[in-house]
Amino acid sequence: MSLDLSTPLQFLKGVGPRKAADLKRAGLVTVEDLLYRLPFRYEDRSRMQPIATLRPGAKAAVLGEIKSANLAVTRRRGFRIFHAIIADASGSIRCTWMNQAFLTDILKPHLQVVVFGDVKLDSTGLHFMNPEYELVSEDLSSIKTARIVPFYEKTGTVTPNMQRRIVRQVLDQLPPDMVDPLPPALRERLDLVPRRVAVEQSHFPLNEASVDELNAFRTAAQRRLIFEEYFLFQLGHAWRRHESSVERKPWIPTVDDRIRQSAARVLPFRLTPGQRQAVKEIVDDMLLPAPMHRLLQGDVGAGKTIVALLAAIVAMENGLQVAFMAPTEILANQHFGNIARLLASSRFRVDLLTGSTPGLQKHTVTSHIERGTTHMVVGTHALVQEGVTFHKLGLVVIDEQHRFGVEQRAMLRDKGLKPDVLLMTATPIPRTLALTDYSELEVSKITDLPPGRKPVRTLVKPESRRDEVFDLIRDELDRGRQAYIIYPLVEESEKVDLRSATEMADHLQAEVFPAHRIALLHGRMKQEAKEHVMHAFVSGQIHVLVSTTVVEVGVDVANATVMVVEHAERFGLSQLHQLRGRVGRGDWESVCVLIYQAPWSDDARERLKTMASTTDGFVIAERDLELRGPGDVFGTRQSGLAKLRTGDLVRDRDIMESAHREARRLVDESGLTEELKSFVQQRWQEQFGLIEVG
Ligand code: ADP
Ligand code: MG
Repeated sequence: MSLDLSTPLQFLKGVGPRKAADLKRAGLVTVEDLLYRLPFRYEDRSRMQPIATLRPGAKAAVLGEIKSANLAVTRRRGFRIFHAIIADASGSIRCTWMNQAFLTDILKPHLQVVVFGDVKLDSTGLHFMNPEYELVSEDLSSIKTARIVPFYEKTGTVTPNMQRRIVRQVLDQLPPDMVDPLPPALRERLDLVPRRVAVEQSHFPLNEASVDELNAFRTAAQRRLIFEEYFLFQLGHAWRRHESSVERKPWIPTVDDRIRQSAARVLPFRLTPGQRQAVKEIVDDMLLPAPMHRLLQGDVGAGKTIVALLAAIVAMENGLQVAFMAPTEILANQHFGNIARLLASSRFRVDLLTGSTPGLQKHTVTSHIERGTTHMVVGTHALVQEGVTFHKLGLVVIDEQHRFGVEQRAMLRDKGLKPDVLLMTATPIPRTLALTDYSELEVSKITDLPPGRKPVRTLVKPESRRDEVFDLIRDELDRGRQAYIIYPLVEESEKVDLRSATEMADHLQAEVFPAHRIALLHGRMKQEAKEHVMHAFVSGQIHVLVSTTVVEVGVDVANATVMVVEHAERFGLSQLHQLRGRVGRGDWESVCVLIYQAPWSDDARERLKTMASTTDGFVIAERDLELRGPGDVFGTRQSGLAKLRTGDLVRDRDIMESAHREARRLVDESGLTEELKSFVQQRWQEQFGLIEVG
């Protein structure tokens, strides 16, 4: 039978429908799937060691005859030990297997066997404990011993041995030539191994290969396969980026002195150098014919809002409308309040539109948007989702929305809109994502903070010491400051959690802070009630805000100096960082107290330790990524990254970087051949399952 990469595994000899179903469940459908799932480890079993030369503490392979075998019963009920003595010309050694009684039927006296494992020494002498074994007569091609042996991760019912066998079979049947998607010039310049060779040697390396190099995934064969996959992935990104760079927006703003003055008039303070640089980069982009797609990144409190507002003024002065979107209604309200205040003396009309805007008002606002008599609308992302039609939409600002920004832009484009898009986030994009999902974005960073900010002191305390925390809060309240106390809200037990937050608020008011005013804020409250509470807190009538995480992002109350997080062990790192960012915004020293309840997991301990040791958002984001992985952190499980099969994004970052570079170079310099285009399209559809490219 002739085989190629697209052949379903089901058609292989020895793979019946049942095994094929098992393989499919493990994600292995075609020959290509199988070959691009690389071994995760290799062991050198090529060199057989004479038994007499074995030393304790090292891994070794020996070939010998089974001299005797017996199954010993131990005092522990049902626990049995299988012993075999294996001898070669130089000597003999005992092998011991715990609880593998079935070995009596396999390892019988007089058979030739290779065993591989750790050589141990105890009072009974040298022995192998639970070694790997392979009967020499069982498999003449020797894929398990007497060579460098590949090990596959067990996936479902597909055992590593089974996978090894099928891979060998496939490699034996594949024709010697394999279509190579990589352009010949690139292959030559980077000195890449031919595809067929790379596949063979990644699974069954030559005996002279270095096992250390193999296990570090540093061999030419392995790196070539990883590069190939990363490169096709990157080509999709580069291609998309190229397509959007030749896109043309319907209206291109200009800037003159009048507009500069108009912007300067709304400024309530002097911009920091970082903010000024960001404004410049953003406005420069807006003046270009292709729609802007830029990310503004700055730690919590860096002052991103005013930067976005200045960009908005440029758009509005050019007769264009601005949509300003926030992830929560509370934040949308806050932005609206601030922006409306700053623009009060301008000629621009700003409106608020969220899910809870009353029907009649909504109607008025949308008709103003449609007619162009409203210049800027602030709201939640429902703004673009609901059928709001803009008169002349020129700029979309998406705040704290790194999770959705990329997709929202695609949605705008689907509607035929090509405005400038500015995404804002406090979460630094990890380098790997910056090379992939976010690689189509230009990035501006604000690395400084407004003057006078003091770092927030962070304390981690068990609940048994809550009273100390209350004392600390009381001191601050007596000085005229305000405090947040945050409760987690876990989906499954929302009611219970809410009750505990409610009870806590009552308790705090009645018993702990009778002289101050406490209020409760949570997501299930009516919008009006939420606004009322938030307003009272902002204006200082309420002193302690007991809240669920609805205040997590963006909320800005400079007089608040204490952030207490209850059940801090349940929160993720970036959430804790965001929460802590709610304080330390004014002229006073602030403190963040993370209260935990035992038992906590190692991860939770690690998170709280990280919080206590740094306030650097970048360090925290990197740590978060290590603990959770990119999919969870960025909510992009559906990202193509999660589907990459060959490499490890941390270990092989250099390969990703080179693939990124080469893909851009190819797209920018010579473009893609039709053949390569269809390769990329197929990959993106079948493997990554992403929005189509091209
Ligand atoms: P974030 O980047 O977290 O969104 P904000 O835009 O909410 O930060 O700004 C945080 C606070 O700092 C706000 O109260 C804002 O008015 C203030 N702020 C921003 N820039 C400056 C500046 N250059 N000088 C003084 N205060 C500033
Ligand atoms: Mg903000």
